[in-house]
Amino acid sequence: MATIHWFRKGLRLHDNPALLAAIKENHELRPLYILDPWFMTNSRVGVNRWRFFTQSLDDLDNNLRGLGSRLFVIRGTPEEVFLNLFKDWDVQRLTWEVDTEPYACSRDEKIEKLARSHNIEVVCQVGHTLYNTEQIIKANLGKTPLTYQSMQALVSKLGHPPKPVDTLVSLPRGCRLQGEIATDSKFDPPTLAELGVDEGSIEPCLYVGGETEALKRLDKYMERKTWVCRFEKPKTSPNSLQPSTTVLSPYLKFGCLSCRTMYFRLLEVYKNNSHTNPPVSLLGQLLWREFFYTVAAATPNFDHMEGNPVCRQIPWIRDDKLLRAWEYGKTGYPFIDAVMTQLRKEGWIHHLARHVVACFLTRGDLWQPWEDGMKVNVFEELLLDADWSLNAGNWMWLSASAFFHQYFRVYSPIAFGKQTDKHGDYIRKYLPQLCKYPESYIYEPWKAPLSVQKAAGCIIGQDYPRPIVDHDIARKHNLQRMSKAFAAGKNKTSPSSKESAKKRTKK
Ligand code: FAD
Repeated sequence: MATIHWFRKGLRLHDNPALLAAIKENHELRPLYILDPWFMTNSRVGVNRWRFFTQSLDDLDNNLRGLGSRLFVIRGTPEEVFLNLFKDWDVQRLTWEVDTEPYACSRDEKIEKLARSHNIEVVCQVGHTLYNTEQIIKANLGKTPLTYQSMQALVSKLGHPPKPVDTLVSLPRGCRLQGEIATDSKFDPPTLAELGVDEGSIEPCLYVGGETEALKRLDKYMERKTWVCRFEKPKTSPNSLQPSTTVLSPYLKFGCLSCRTMYFRLLEVYKNNSHTNPPVSLLGQLLWREFFYTVAAATPNFDHMEGNPVCRQIPWIRDDKLLRAWEYGKTGYPFIDAVMTQLRKEGWIHHLARHVVACFLTRGDLWQPWEDGMKVNVFEELLLDADWSLNAGNWMWLSASAFFHQYFRVYSPIAFGKQTDKHGDYIRKYLPQLCKYPESYIYEPWKAPLSVQKAAGCIIGQDYPRPIVDHDIARKHNLQRMSKAFAAGKNKTSPSSKESAKKRTKK
């Protein structure tokens, strides 16, 4: 008799309630990961995230082997895979962690039915969020909280989230694997080559995937007690050469790190110390995560403008040329281009850097649909931490489509970066063609006299693009457009957004 624990997110042995539920009956444990072709075709994964993902599976497999088990990686649709496994493995129980994304919900519903039709017990436990998102909404009398403040009020009513459960450090004898299956290489995690990634084409790895690295990284930051206690997100820098925030996001995204573990580690650091508070504190960042997860779980079409009840309908005008220039760091605004280059090379950019480029693409300068920045080969593909709920929620925020309404506050692609990096070291790092520009022109190289451009070895319009739009003119024009969209009200759909939707379904 066997119990399958189905890993999807939650790639960890610490604080994994569903995994603990899998060993309760002392049946042989079959830890499973399904390489579902849906994800290969419907979600875009860039090379950096594929690497992070394979490293995370390898780490999980190693850690399980240390307990006398292993990870079984199987290719196929979940329905096909389970139909076979239910026949072949004498399965009595199936456990998994709750996933609130729409594809996951419908997939899990089908698998639950299938399992029950085979008399298999199904156990689902919340582990990817601090609270059960349904309970938060219930505590709000059935309404989805739409502001951070209301979220804060709700969680203070609910009290702290459940404490992390014990780490799986050993397996009862009956749960350990027996026989050849324990070493059969046909179930090994995939290599990058198998996933179609040419390893030679990837940049050096800055963030190694997996639970082991996640816990090390958490420890490293929690040791910096003063830093943690003084953390104020708006005071961190978008363009420092080393990250000014934790970069725990990819680990939280894949569930290599439990958000509850992080939450309670923060409480330990805060204990008997004065510290910052939400929304700016580190604990406050976890509440942002929880906020977007909660809204996303309860909102239809959360990752689209149309049919999304929380999203303002704004008549964006899709222009592939503008989108491509932004995507490939060729807007002619060095700060924007440097951020987009860092994203493509390294897979992680600072929160405020995300703010600036998202504002620039949408309401600030280029007037492109936020859905395009979020998806189409850009954030969703390139971010190591690309997360369905957080990506869509933050894009709506930045484009003033939902949650944030002060559309007149536009980031300057020139002045904003100077606040934390006057000399432009960040630009020099990511756009080496501009590295010889004097400080006075590094953010606006097109203003440099030709003699300065020649001396710097980079002629604007030839070696680096001219600005794709004039920021001052674009900003003013877009403010008028935003003002009209706000006046037109929340739920009206414009012809061009219908057009966008048509095009979207083609992709
Ligand atoms: P820290 O400041 O160290 O925060 C710790 C954790 O809190 C993060 O790892 C993250 O899980 C959570 N967190 C922090 N800020 C936010 C936030 N604004 N919203 C939700 N959770 C937050 N984050 C993602 O994880 N995946 C995404 O796909 C994503 N897309 C974004 C798109 C845009 C346009 C913007 C503006 C932000 C996006 N964010 C996304 C949120 C945020 O930028 C990242 O979570 C953060 O920069 C990750 O770095 P960190 O781990 O060092 O954060």
